[in-house]
Formats: sequence, C-alpha cells, structure tokens
Amino acid sequence: MTLIIERLAIIGVGLIGGSLARALREAGVVKNVVGIGRSRANLEDAFSLGICDEITQDAAIGVRNTQVVFISVPVCSIPAVVAEIAPYLSPGCIVTDGGSVKGAIVKECEALMPPGCHFVGGHPIAGTEHAGAAASFATLYTGKRCILTPTDNTDAAAFDTISRLWQATGAHVCCMEPGHHDRIFAEISHLPHMVAYALVHAVGTADVEGENVLSYTAGGFRDFTRIASSDPTMWRDISLMNREALLASIDGFSRSLAELRCRIDCRDPQGLEEFFTIAKQFRDGII
Ligand code: NAP
Repeated sequence: MTLIIERLAIIGVGLIGGSLARALREAGVVKNVVGIGRSRANLEDAFSLGICDEITQDAAIGVRNTQVVFISVPVCSIPAVVAEIAPYLSPGCIVTDGGSVKGAIVKECEALMPPGCHFVGGHPIAGTEHAGAAASFATLYTGKRCILTPTDNTDAAAFDTISRLWQATGAHVCCMEPGHHDRIFAEISHLPHMVAYALVHAVGTADVEGENVLSYTAGGFRDFTRIASSDPTMWRDISLMNREALLASIDGFSRSLAELRCRIDCRDPQGLEEFFTIAKQFRDGII
C-alpha cells in the first residue's frame, strides 16, 4: 500500500527537517506540512519557500491532528520538545527524530510517549555545514543511509511507517541498536568534527611572529576543515550528549597523534612512512 501522510509536523525546520519535508512533498507522500520553530524569520522562510503549508511557534497547536511528528532541533532539546508536545498528540501519532545521538534520546523519548503514541528514533546520514530552512533541499537524502534505532519497545507498525517514509526520500534504511549507533558515530562523525574544530582553533590562535597564519590557507586546509564551519550549537549538544563515546574516540585519536609525534621526534623515516602508508591504505579503501 502507498504511504500517504495526511498531516506531518516538522519541529525545527532547518537543513534536516526542511529537506525531509521537501523530499516527501516531491515524492507525493505528504498532503499537509506544518512547520514549528522558535524564530518567526526561519518559519517565514520555510513558508515562502513552499516547504510548509502552515507555520506556528506554538508546538502544542502545531502537533494537533498530525499522524507523524518529526523533530529536528539540536539533540539536547529533543527530549524537552517531546515532553512539551506529549499531552497534545493525537491517538496513534508517531513521533520520530533526526538527531545525531540516539542512546539518551531514544530512552527518554520512549518513556515520554502517552499511551497509544509511538516513538521511533532515527538519524539520516546526510548533511552539509549549512543551517536553516533556506539551506534545505529535496535531494539531500537521495542514495544516503538513514539509520533507525528500534528497541524492544518499538511498535512494529510505527517502525514500518517511518521506514517507508525515509525510503520515499530516496534513502536506504538500516537498523542499529542506539548505543552501538553512538559508538560508531563518535568515531566516524563526531571525532572528525572535534579534530576539525581543534585544528582551526589551534592554527587560528597560532602566533608566528605576529603573522595571521590563516591568510596563507590553500586547498588542503580548506578541504580538511570544511566541517569546522558547522553550527556551534548543534555540535555543543552532540559533544555533551555523546560525551562518553566521544571521549573514548578522542583518547584513541590522541594516542595516534602521540605516536606520530614520537616518530617525528625520533627522526624515524621508516616509522613515519609506515604510519602514513597505513593511513593512506585505509583512506584509499573508502573511496
Ligand atoms: P538547523 O539547520 O540549525 O535546524 C534546526 C532548526 O531547529 C532551526 O531552524 C531552529 O530554528 C530550530 N530550533 C532550534 N531549537 C529549537 C527548539 N528548542 N524548538 C523548536 N525549534 C528549534 O540544524 P540541522 O542541521 O537541521 O540539525 C537538526 C538536527 O539534525 C540536529 O539534532 C542534528 O544533530 C541532526 N542532524 C544534522 C545533520 C547535519 O549535517 N546538519 C545531519 C544529521 C542529523 P530557530 O532557531 O528559529 O528555532
């Protein structure tokens, strides 16, 4: 049976929420989209760009009579948003999210669901360093993975609806246990952002005889540090919410950097070449 959502609420109509609404509209699976957010300016962008049919800053009003509510605000705000809307959800409503951390969100949001409503955790593996409704686009999820994190408490029919919703955007859906998701993404996504932020911070504050070192940047530095241009609030929240897994990843990275430093310090040409060759082989293997 074709999936048709009569009324979908998007809380946080930014890059992730706006792109989901655009993709579902283009796929013809959603009839009415209500955009919910804090600032009037971003909501008006979402309305004038045709992402939403209605906009409101009042989440309690916005979620009324919706079949699906998608939450795409910074991760630390997601449980509070779910607590705020829970009393106003229609029976059978499915609440889902696109947050980059899953363990704490799934645990807290499942517990907040009123009887007859269902929570399904999700994380689309797609994005850019840009934020807000104006940065969203319909093809963001085409050919990308979307990870859903069902638990023993997840309603099978609700899971099926959310899985089909993501498939309609062109994404490939796969499943993961929430804690496993957080350990994998600490390594492959959260650590690289920390390294990029730390690198730009270090180089930006470096003092080489009073020169502005950043004025000498070329392609390599720009390529490597693109993600350090991502939204600071979003990354503040991800760092705090995935703290344990991220600290373990940073410790692993610190050991690799210390090893590299040691080989430079010892003037060890063979050791350096071996280190770079191993890394190059890993890198070439992912392309
Ligand atoms: P974004 O473009 O900044 O969008 C977030 C939107 O949420 C903004 O429009 C913001 O608008 C609104 N907002 C913030 N706090 C809110 C609150 N408490 N209540 C209601 N609205 C609120 O960020 P995004 O990139 O779409 O990220 C959203 C979520 O997706 C995050 O949880 C992030 O971890 C996840 N994610 C991001 C990426 C990525 O690459 N960007 C990829 C995968 C998953 P106002 O400021 O006007 O309220």
